[in-house]
Amino acid sequence: MELTPVTDLPEVRPGDDLAELIADRADDLEGTVLTVASTVVSKAEGRTADLEEYPVSARAEEIAAHIEDVAGEEKDPRFAQAVLEESTELLVEAPFLLTETRFGHITVNAGIDRSNVPEHDLLLLPKRPSESAERIRQGLEDRGHEDVSVIVTDTSGRPFRHGQRGVALGWAGMPASRDWRGERDRDGRELGVTVQSVVDELAAAANLVTGEGADGNPAVVVRDWEFGDLEGSDELYRSVEDDLVRQALREWRFE
Ligand code: GDP
Ligand code: MN
Ligand code: MN
Ligand code: MN
Repeated sequence: MELTPVTDLPEVRPGDDLAELIADRADDLEGTVLTVASTVVSKAEGRTADLEEYPVSARAEEIAAHIEDVAGEEKDPRFAQAVLEESTELLVEAPFLLTETRFGHITVNAGIDRSNVPEHDLLLLPKRPSESAERIRQGLEDRGHEDVSVIVTDTSGRPFRHGQRGVALGWAGMPASRDWRGERDRDGRELGVTVQSVVDELAAAANLVTGEGADGNPAVVVRDWEFGDLEGSDELYRSVEDDLVRQALREWRFE
């Protein structure tokens, strides 16, 4: 497989049509996977915000008093308020905020980003990233680029390990996972549990190309990769019943 950035994309503005911006700068997209950083999806969708828009609740005040920002200063309670408003559940409130976003992604600070955001304080994640991915996919198809799968990505931390990596927030034109269950290994043993989250694996690979700083490469074209014949699944976000880690966090919180 080959991953190449879509070069020369401008600073993305509210109302921009990402499919158009990308189609103008890339050809031979048929049959590829296109990854797009959520940062530019959010910018195009006008998901910027400013701290002054968040009148602080007592809860946000209380939360902020327990957390320090990177400079060791007490967290701005307006930021805590923004995180609460983007979230359906607060799982950890100190030493950092871990929440579930409205579309099911569990991440620090509800994924609110302060990097690569000119003119505003905050960039919120797209409201419904799979719908964003579908709009881009449809926009490309309307411009003659058939059979493109689209993944909206973000850089995210993970439990148990240092470092961040790319993850998929939303996807369109392909399933999220490849189900290996029932396949056989080299010894003929049947695989019982392996469901491969291909959208996350592609997002992580693409993140190597986008970089995290000033590179200016939010979109990556993945060529010569195929989903293949295995059964697909769109389950990515675990439900509470199915999520031991989240259940443990809830118990720990209420003790
Ligand atoms: P995130 O992982 O979705 O939070 O996005 P990042 O902030 O890590 O940015 C991913 C890539 O997109 C980096 O190469 C940034 O330099 C680039 N980027 C961010 N915003 C823009 C933009 O408006 N235009 C362009 N051309 N690149 C951008
Ligand atoms: Mn960022
Ligand atoms: Mn981000
Ligand atoms: Mn990133």
